[in-house]
Amino acid sequence: MDAPRDPRTAWALPALGALPRTAELEPLVTRVLAPNASGMTLDGTNTYVVGAPGSGQAVLVDPGPDDPGHLAAVQGALSARDARCVAVLVTHHHGDHAEAARPWGAHFGAEVAAGSADVAGPRGRVLDHGDRLRLAGTTIGVVATPGHTGDHLAFRLESGAVLVGDHVLGRGTSVVTYPEGDVVAYLESLRRVHDLGPSALYCGHGPELTEDPGAVLDFYLAHRAFREHQLLTALAEGPATVDELVARIYADVPRALWVPAAMSTRATLAKLRAEDRVEGDTEADGEVRLA
Ligand SMILES: [Zn+2]
Repeated sequence: MDAPRDPRTAWALPALGALPRTAELEPLVTRVLAPNASGMTLDGTNTYVVGAPGSGQAVLVDPGPDDPGHLAAVQGALSARDARCVAVLVTHHHGDHAEAARPWGAHFGAEVAAGSADVAGPRGRVLDHGDRLRLAGTTIGVVATPGHTGDHLAFRLESGAVLVGDHVLGRGTSVVTYPEGDVVAYLESLRRVHDLGPSALYCGHGPELTEDPGAVLDFYLAHRAFREHQLLTALAEGPATVDELVARIYADVPRALWVPAAMSTRATLAKLRAEDRVEGDTEADGEVRLA
């Protein structure tokens, strides 16, 4: 099995660090990039301002870090749309997406809505798959996308674009966290978003994917299958610890990314163990072997 080819390598996407601070992606959506670039957050967190033009209202999706400069930029995007913020939606509980949700909800007098009560807060709203939110002159569909985290949601817009949080990234692939993440759920969630036939994917990090979103989702599915194949091939040569497996499989990846790589590896091993294909110590530092 060869490594699957990322279709985005042939697309003219902006280089890492070259995303504009604010960009209008379509009449419904303005993206504001937070100033929190890092190895894990790529260019930084994307905050989306969503609303029908002329409605005078907008929803924020993934406010991101509670940073005054970022708040000022978001306020600028709201003013440019002549809109006030009426709700704050959050894709998942990680701080780079959710930290500002409750403080900014209070600041704007807007309801916070998310997939978990921890993020929504005592006065917020917990969302379910299939909810249709009539907000800011438009309808936003709630799509459960567990995998990266247990509470992960995506939001489908009337235009057909889907705001995917960390389910799909604008560059590279996403991490299934461990122990919270779930590879089986993640694969189902990828298929679920694929089935929506999205016209565009607006990611939690990195550029918008508009050219062929289905091809990116196919690549993500093939990438997971390839990682699983690599693990099984490595274990066919004998038992190994997770660290040894990561050093072998991620040899071409910068060492700074070996921590999330180990998480993804443990999450994949948990799937293989549930399928009775591997056994041993997938949780700690002991050896794993083929079953
Ligand atoms: Zn993130």
